[in-house]
Amino acid sequence: VTRAAVCTALDRPLEVLELELEPPRAGEVRVRVGATAICGSDLAVQSGSLPSPLPIVLGHQGAGVVVEAGPGVERLSPGAHVVITGGIQCGECHQCRHERPYLCEQGNDVLRTGGLIDGTPRFATPEGAAVHQFVGTGTFAEEVVVSEACVVEVPAGLDFAALALIGCGIITGAGAALNTASIRAGDTVAVIGCGNVGLAALQGARLAGAAEIIAVDLLPAKLELGAAVGAGHTIDARDGDPVGAVRELTGGRGSDVTIEAVGAQATVDQAIAMTASGGEVVFVGAGAPEVRIDVPQFTGLVARAKTFKGCLFGDADIRRDVTRLVGAYVAGQLELDAMISARYGLDEINDGFAAMRAAEIVAGVIEF
Ligand SMILES: [Zn+2]
Ligand SMILES: [Zn+2]
Repeated sequence: VTRAAVCTALDRPLEVLELELEPPRAGEVRVRVGATAICGSDLAVQSGSLPSPLPIVLGHQGAGVVVEAGPGVERLSPGAHVVITGGIQCGECHQCRHERPYLCEQGNDVLRTGGLIDGTPRFATPEGAAVHQFVGTGTFAEEVVVSEACVVEVPAGLDFAALALIGCGIITGAGAALNTASIRAGDTVAVIGCGNVGLAALQGARLAGAAEIIAVDLLPAKLELGAAVGAGHTIDARDGDPVGAVRELTGGRGSDVTIEAVGAQATVDQAIAMTASGGEVVFVGAGAPEVRIDVPQFTGLVARAKTFKGCLFGDADIRRDVTRLVGAYVAGQLELDAMISARYGLDEINDGFAAMRAAEIVAGVIEF
């Protein structure tokens, strides 16, 4: 038996319920969750914009301790401290073998089924009815059973709340800069959107050797955080045209690399317009279906030799990148603590959802 925050109906508060938890099957582990962070995708399931079976335990980024390993699990033993990520990476399918584990075919169906890789969840009500797990995880729970393919072991003794951020937001944003973009030393990088993903992208750009980093947002508090974690310039988009402001800062050229971490039509258009000839635009924001990339083929793309790249989950290899990001955190090169805006207990999770929805906070963390 474990306690978990369950989304039982759209647009309703999550309900903290006692659930049965089936032991891990082959290739799965049971993790006692130390902390888990709220992500925009969790909100999108609750509001219905990201369709998913209900009832469901949301949460897909967390950190904790392995308490039980199922048959055939060799990489993880009880006692291992781990990060749970929102990405299943089996290492064996076509995409994994072709260095695109962020498109792992074993993980293809978990959003639709609400189960683990085999399609079935391990949570159930005391009456025996299945309770689904968001993208094969479901970390808004004291304990969870997940596939070992979405878990990475990390050194013991680190703050679970900081580690929890890595599992989706940080790996996505930092990966957009470090994996997807080809940032060269001396480049000017603009990042649009200073939520959790954008702030991680800023930090990734700094780690990649960008000379100038420009943060664009609408909220002064988020821009302040952007400046604190590496942006040399901040642009409040309410004060005028961010495209003109970026051009002014770059001798009229525009940014060498722009990372769009919002997904709104206005910011997508701005990202393209503020990028210099020969530059690169990385789209990592999750936009609504009607948001379009619309440029004249010749004058917008060919004649200006621009590159557009879509970035899913930071183009991450979770074992490589979680290890690398935790190493940067331990070395003081990756700021995570400042990105934790608020800490909640499981029973206060709806306060965290409300604050995230109101964009009052960058990252809300649930601690157990
Ligand atoms: Zn997420
Ligand atoms: Zn795979």
